[in-house]
Formats: sequence, structure tokens, C-alpha cells
Amino acid sequence: MKAFCMKCRKETEIKEAQVVRMKNGNHGTKGLCCSCGAKVFKVGKQ
Ligand SMILES: [Zn+2]
Repeated sequence: MKAFCMKCRKETEIKEAQVVRMKNGNHGTKGLCCSCGAKVFKVGKQ
């Protein structure tokens, strides 16, 4: 699964991906960038 990393400014693989529920009821996925370790977030389960 990939997410956009603000630090790398590119799509990276999500490390330790976790599905979370946002305040509006939608699902999101949070985790860590595999190359720099920054937090990344993606809307949706996949
Ligand atoms: Zn990164």
C-alpha cells in the first residue's frame, strides 16, 4: 500500500499501516514512510 510522503515528496510504501476511522466516518490509513520514517496518511483503506 502506498501513500504520499510530504517529506520525500513522492509516493512511498506505508510501513506499519493501520486503518483508522476519521471524524467524518470515513476510513483512512496511517503509517510511516518506508524511506524516511515520517508519518504518512492516506484516505481510504487501500
Ligand atoms: Zn518519506
